[in-house]
Amino acid sequence: MVDNHFFTTALDEEGELLAVSTSTGFLERAPDSPEVAKRFADLHPGFAPVSAVIEANRCLYCFDAPCTVACPTHIDVPKFIKKIASGNLEGSARTILEANILGASCARACPVQVLCEGSCVMHRNNERPIEIGRLQRFAMDALHASGDPLPFSPGEETGKSVALIGGGPASLACAAELRRRGIRAEIFDARPLPGGLNTYGIAEYKLPLIESLHEIDMLAQLGVTFHFDTTVDAAKLALLEAQFDAVFLGVGLGTIHKLGVANEDRGGVTNALDFIAGYKSGAITMVPKKVAVIGGGNTAIDAANAAVRLGAEEVHMIYRRGPQQMSAFAFEYEHAKQEGVRFHFHVTPVGLVGEDRVEALKLAQLETSVDSSLVPKLEEGSELAVDLVVLAIGQGTHTSFLDGDKVQLDKGRIVVNRVNGQTSYPKFFAGGDCINGGREVVDAVADGKRAGIGIAAWLEVAHANA
Ligand code: SF4
Repeated sequence: MVDNHFFTTALDEEGELLAVSTSTGFLERAPDSPEVAKRFADLHPGFAPVSAVIEANRCLYCFDAPCTVACPTHIDVPKFIKKIASGNLEGSARTILEANILGASCARACPVQVLCEGSCVMHRNNERPIEIGRLQRFAMDALHASGDPLPFSPGEETGKSVALIGGGPASLACAAELRRRGIRAEIFDARPLPGGLNTYGIAEYKLPLIESLHEIDMLAQLGVTFHFDTTVDAAKLALLEAQFDAVFLGVGLGTIHKLGVANEDRGGVTNALDFIAGYKSGAITMVPKKVAVIGGGNTAIDAANAAVRLGAEEVHMIYRRGPQQMSAFAFEYEHAKQEGVRFHFHVTPVGLVGEDRVEALKLAQLETSVDSSLVPKLEEGSELAVDLVVLAIGQGTHTSFLDGDKVQLDKGRIVVNRVNGQTSYPKFFAGGDCINGGREVVDAVADGKRAGIGIAAWLEVAHANA
């Protein structure tokens, strides 16, 4: 037996690391990074009990609630809010979890402005929308603080089993559905901790690493088994296919694209995912004075804000188009400006200056050519002194280990039946970023939930016909 800080672990017959959550003492053994906690204080602190009840009582409890429609997991929002108003917090948490097993992390990570709260009827009267995300967090925090287990039990064991590749939100949601139906669920993840982006990739001031682990610990009590530090390649996948009744692919996306300029691998150049995971896990506690983040998405914004909070004196965001074209949400852009991030639009890096480490970025203005493509005007270049460059210019796919003749792919993304998450190869199902190219946590949860239900139904039919 080995204690790896978070789970009681053992080696299986093949010598692989096997871990089963024990729950006991889980949170006490999580990494302790007071410096990170101080610098990344909660962006939207939770409600005090009285404020939560006042806010819950503002809700009109709409019959055809547009917030429930707008939520990708279709949480019955009026129902859970009404239970907060009546003081039934356990019932409120149950309502949330029935629809969304990762209701705690979604309450913090969801861009509610463009989902549930964005569709609140209060907007029609020019009133402030109900704070659905914070109320959801209030109910989920109360459940976590109570120390009670999830209000669900595993189903009666069916003897069927599913291997889930990747330990992110899609696999976790899928595993929960499977366990509730008595199907064995084993998650294989290349990282040393579960949770994927929830644990490693979401800005700490939105979703702290510890909260992600706490939620997964509760979920693991349903009997989910975790295999950490386990990379699944084509050979391993064939082995798992032979050992399990079905496979769920929740492999997310691949590495962040490179800039494509000379000497890009020199010191002082990193990518946003490694950077965010580094500070969240306590490996990065400070940054040099001048940081440039390349990109215009939400991940780029998270990295830039993190650089500010880690002590950079200047943080620049370099984006090749204008603010209207950024894929980052408008409220994230506004937040970054408030944090002190400086934006440079219509420019692109065309080179790096420095011997062993980067000392400056060579930038060129971009103009639109006759065929609408963006072309750098090299004669109008400039240099920006930087000590650290963080790339956030989109991710590739992570599906090269799949047999494309078996599992249909479209530009590297796995093609699935949108009703049950099944791929073109019936024994394989998929969900999350590897099918949708990178959306929100709540979308991955919806995918995983749908696939979990789809796998259970398919196994029933497959075994009935066997
Ligand atoms: S899961 Fe997200 S989108 Fe759905 S109701 Fe909760 S906060 Fe809103």
